[in-house]
Amino acid sequence: MTFSDFNFKETLNQAINNAGFKEPSPVQANAIPLILEGHDLIGQAQTGTGKTAAFGLPVIQQMSGDKGVEALVIVPTRELAMQVSDELFRFGKTAGLKTATVYGGTPYNKQIDRIKQANIIVATPGRLQDLLMSKKIKLNPSFVILDEADEMLDMGFLDEIKNIFTFLPQERQTLMFSATMPKQIKILAEQILNNPKSVTITKSERTNTDIAQIFYVVADYERDDALLRLIDYKNPNKCIIFCRMKKEVDRLSSYMTAQGFKVAALHGDMEQKQREHTIRSFKQGLVEIFIATDVAARGLDVNDVSHVFNYHIPFDSESYVHRIGRTGRAGNKGEAITLVSPNELRTIKRIEKDVGTVMVSEVIPTRQEVQTRKDDDLLSKIANTEVSSSAKEMVKTLQHDLDIVTIAHLLATIVQKEIDVKGKDIIGLGTEEVKALIERAKNFKGGDRNGGRGRGRNRSRGGARRRSHGGRGRNSDHRSGGNRGSRNGGKRNKN
Ligand code: ADP
Ligand code: MG
Repeated sequence: MTFSDFNFKETLNQAINNAGFKEPSPVQANAIPLILEGHDLIGQAQTGTGKTAAFGLPVIQQMSGDKGVEALVIVPTRELAMQVSDELFRFGKTAGLKTATVYGGTPYNKQIDRIKQANIIVATPGRLQDLLMSKKIKLNPSFVILDEADEMLDMGFLDEIKNIFTFLPQERQTLMFSATMPKQIKILAEQILNNPKSVTITKSERTNTDIAQIFYVVADYERDDALLRLIDYKNPNKCIIFCRMKKEVDRLSSYMTAQGFKVAALHGDMEQKQREHTIRSFKQGLVEIFIATDVAARGLDVNDVSHVFNYHIPFDSESYVHRIGRTGRAGNKGEAITLVSPNELRTIKRIEKDVGTVMVSEVIPTRQEVQTRKDDDLLSKIANTEVSSSAKEMVKTLQHDLDIVTIAHLLATIVQKEIDVKGKDIIGLGTEEVKALIERAKNFKGGDRNGGRGRGRNRSRGGARRRSHGGRGRNSDHRSGGNRGSRNGGKRNKN
């Protein structure tokens, strides 16, 4: 199937072409014809599957371009609002359509002016409800799209959504997209959609094979060292480190900064300007490591993120899928790396089952392995570098006093010193030991049953805790390093 099969108008084909889209993704191939026929629709597909174009293209195709807001898109967060409106702007501008973004934390007046000029608005629920209830704006859109509906539910926006719909015209085409379909979302769908068609992209289609999923078993207190070692070893282009809590984001940011990395933290409660600025520096590569919570990084769309690190395994499978979907985008390869303590192994098994994926376990590389990797990199760099004329001059000067082999040795020593291996030697667990632990986790009965969406529950479950003690014991028996006790003491103080 190609985009030309949809018989879009010329301006739209041009926009698709400009965007570099070659063929429709599965959710697009399935949803676009139904939307063009005028049906209401529920679309279920994971992050990164192209849902924005799946609704954006057929809606823009059907828009008249007359004055007034013809399409309203509701999204859970400000970042998403900006991303979705950027994408829709790309598709609409060839047809002269104007897009406005509506979210909290910015002055009303300017926003209202923009809304009055716009054909398409992309809004977060809070501000939109505000504007509608205070009668600052009145909307009469023919197309209403609810994007990331499950996320809105998680963020507690259900009432706002229901209320917003009381201000919208009955006569409209309504589309709802969600990565998952919890019961409350199904109920909402019944309330706001009219005889909807549904499009579901199944697990096998949505598992992105461009993402390698690896986990490392470490003791809890080893996480910082393990992370440092892995980043040093894998040498990511851009990476995102996910934490469960804001507090951890802050702590880890200062730690990684102190280690010499260019780091930025992304919080849910940052000032809007600052967030935009932070995301821009990440996109431009001024910042190499992003440290974020799930909510803060929701929908973050940066194409060249090479690695995603889960400092802790997320509580639920949906978060895992959202997180790892930040890498392996736009046809690039990516790696998703998860640090787990022995008592989190069952969570790995559960997520694998829920998501229909396989994570492979690897062992944290030793300092020596990192050194070898870096030396190899250096050797291939030497082989691929062109000699500059100033370098020739420098060597000529050195040759007055030294022979050429000595010069080479000295220069190599200087370069090697610059590429130091970061971090203390970490212990981690050996392959055999990890295998035994995984086996045990697989056979574990009881405990972690309602893991699904039960945020926060996993941690405090007493049974799981006690059960894992055996694992921890083995773990410390195995350790060979001597400086264990001092490992974390110094670092904690940095916060
Ligand atoms: P979702 O909403 O499902 O998470 P997005 O709509 O944000 O996904 O799309 C993810 C990325 O894929 C975006 O950068 C988008 O421009 C790109 N994309 C979408 N559809 C296509 C396509 N058919 N071909 C190539 N890239 C696409
Ligand atoms: Mg989306």
